[in-house]
Amino acid sequence: MGTTMRTAIIGGGIAGLSAAYELEQARKGGASVEYTLFESRDRLGGSLSTEIVDGTVLERGPDSFISEKPAASELCRELGLGADLLPSNDAERKTCILVRNRLVPLPDGLMFLVPTKLIPTALTRLFSLPTKVRMGLELLFPPRPSGAADEAVATLVKRHFGAEAVDRLADPLLSGIYGGDATQLSARTVLPRMVEMEAEYGSLTRGMLAAHRKMRAMAKARSNGDASKPHPAPRAIFTTLRGGLQQLIDALTARLDPRCVRLNTAVSGLEKLDAGWRVEVNGTAEFYDAVIVASPAWAAGVLLNRVDRALAEELSAIPYSSSITVNLVYDESQMGRLPDGFGFLVPAVEGRSMLACTFVHRKFLGRTQPGRVVLRAFLGGMKNEALLVESDAVLIATVRRELSQILGSKVLPQGVEPEHTQVSRWRRAMAQYAVGHQERKQRIAERVATLPGLRLAGNAYDGIGIPDCIRLGRQAARELLAASR
Ligand SMILES: Cc1cc2nc3c(=O)[nH]c(=O)nc-3n(C[C@H](O)[C@H](O)[C@H](O)COP(=O)(O)OP(=O)(O)OC[C@H]3O[C@@H](n4cnc5c(N)ncnc54)[C@H](O)[C@@H]3O)c2cc1C
Repeated sequence: MGTTMRTAIIGGGIAGLSAAYELEQARKGGASVEYTLFESRDRLGGSLSTEIVDGTVLERGPDSFISEKPAASELCRELGLGADLLPSNDAERKTCILVRNRLVPLPDGLMFLVPTKLIPTALTRLFSLPTKVRMGLELLFPPRPSGAADEAVATLVKRHFGAEAVDRLADPLLSGIYGGDATQLSARTVLPRMVEMEAEYGSLTRGMLAAHRKMRAMAKARSNGDASKPHPAPRAIFTTLRGGLQQLIDALTARLDPRCVRLNTAVSGLEKLDAGWRVEVNGTAEFYDAVIVASPAWAAGVLLNRVDRALAEELSAIPYSSSITVNLVYDESQMGRLPDGFGFLVPAVEGRSMLACTFVHRKFLGRTQPGRVVLRAFLGGMKNEALLVESDAVLIATVRRELSQILGSKVLPQGVEPEHTQVSRWRRAMAQYAVGHQERKQRIAERVATLPGLRLAGNAYDGIGIPDCIRLGRQAARELLAASR
């Protein structure tokens, strides 16, 4: 292009902010680029939002990110937050599932949804005897031809381990992560490794064991078979920031030029011109060379309706779920001892409003004032959107009632009041990767490729978690910079 590339970024969640940061870095490095970040709300961060109450960190949205995906930790380090990265307290990591109102720990050796250890699987109270027998027979499954059509996670899990494994394992785990529904989520998108294992080994248990052996052999080869060399400490499963994930949002915001950020400003329409883009803001037109749409896909669909109807329809067809988080802070001295672990998941078949509860003070040490217990309940999801219209008082009362029924009055004696409560509603915030998502993603990419200067970023496309949103935001900005050279 040669001239300055003027870029509009629509949506100031973590994806849009990451894109803006990338452009700002390029600008400081001498690239001819300008950007404007439009955010319809009065704050940046989207779903990431932290409140600190009397020294206790309360996350309204996500509480951490998966350590295995490097984009989030890398960005934190780049922003000077390396010393504040905090691993999950995995020594106490244990998750329970509610089964007929009793908390049952996930059996040892369970690799995501696949049992790999005979004795813990045989002894667990999580599954009935017929399901355990079925899990044993699963070892005999023949390979499934690869290239079979996508299917729901529930269908894949049921075929291998039976309906009980869907109800007590797949559904609660996935509604805990995606606020989702195992009967709708795409196996190829959500469980791609299992689909590959099924094609290669047939049995998922045999596939998991083989993958585990390979990983151990690779680790051994890395240490050159030298048994005296210390093994690197295993990475914690989750990572967060000592002062809450808001630290990441604040650090990103501080790097941007404040004149380039427009809060309380919703973009209402886009139009593709012969050269560049017309962006409609507050009833007036502004002109840009490039546009990064980092709003949820349903909002992107509305914006792009006049640009490309087929693309808009694909975007609008991506389902979203809503959720609610309720944080309750208690005085530890007024409570009994909580069950071991990070918390529990509640299968839909238990008929409760809560989907999950995290024992926050255990999952991350040092973010809760000593002597305080933080219970964080997660409600809503695809199956219970109606809860969103309930008042805070009703939601808090519901969570307190269910917690005392599940944990018992010894742990949570009647009449013990939380010292602080916090309710957050997240409407249509979490994309659902429904069956056929990979094909939809491909069709979207094909349409976008016909529209020079347009990029999409956010949780609707290639990963729901924070690291993937950061990766996609930065990638969108880099691609536009590369194309402008
Ligand atoms: C309750 C909850 C818990 C979660 N827990 C975790 C977790 O523990 N770990 C993890 O990795 N992930 C978690 N996630 C998922 C993760 O937080 C999100 O997927 C991610 O933050 C989405 O980022 P985003 O930038 O794509 O979208 P968003 O955060 O939704 O940001 C999009 C922004 O676009 C703005 N916008 C929309 N339309 C317009 C418009 N027309 N003009 C201008 N602005 C517009 C919105 O106001 C919003 O700020 C959780 C999500 C929720 C809701």
